[in-house]
Amino acid sequence: MGPQGSGKGTQGKLLADELDYVYAEMSPTLKEYAKLNLEDKEKIEKCIAEGKLVPDEIVMRVIKYKFEGSLGIILDGVPRNKNQATEIVALAQEYGFKIITVYIDLPDDEAIKRLLARKICPVDGYEPPYPESLTKENCDKCGAKLITRSDDKEKIIKKRLLEYHEKTEPMMKYLEEQGKIVKIDGMPTVPEVHKSVIDGLKKIGI
Ligand SMILES: [Zn+2]
Repeated sequence: MGPQGSGKGTQGKLLADELDYVYAEMSPTLKEYAKLNLEDKEKIEKCIAEGKLVPDEIVMRVIKYKFEGSLGIILDGVPRNKNQATEIVALAQEYGFKIITVYIDLPDDEAIKRLLARKICPVDGYEPPYPESLTKENCDKCGAKLITRSDDKEKIIKKRLLEYHEKTEPMMKYLEEQGKIVKIDGMPTVPEVHKSVIDGLKKIGI
């Protein structure tokens, strides 16, 4: 977990590779699940098209689908509220999974700076990390010209961060009560943050 711009997606993927866990970012996972589940497909597509959040009960079915047969799973983009957190904890217990929350902290002003600088490759989705993103014009992988993300406007970013704090803080309190939590400073570089995540997990015996 962590605010937008904290690099939690990048860190989640690095950690999943290292532990041989499944990495599940919610929005692509929803699309993957929708292809297999025709009953929920329509509802999911409607929510995405209208920019609404997918109902909790569908999110839980998607998580259950990901839990099946996996050694361990790194969730990114869920839980988004305390209700989802409660249900994920219950489901994890059913599957015999322990819950560890890795929280990557980043001050709002730094998150805003990073999000405003964010660029993405229109061909393969590559995103250069901050601060490289400030000066980079072309994709490292394919050379295409990088574009800025249309949702990264300052007013929208601030609104999202505000919503994030409102929903996250009560949920974090709950998750802290449920299991173990590793808090990481998201300010350093990607490899340094990754090292802190690993050290933090080792410290609590993972
Ligand atoms: Zn590219």
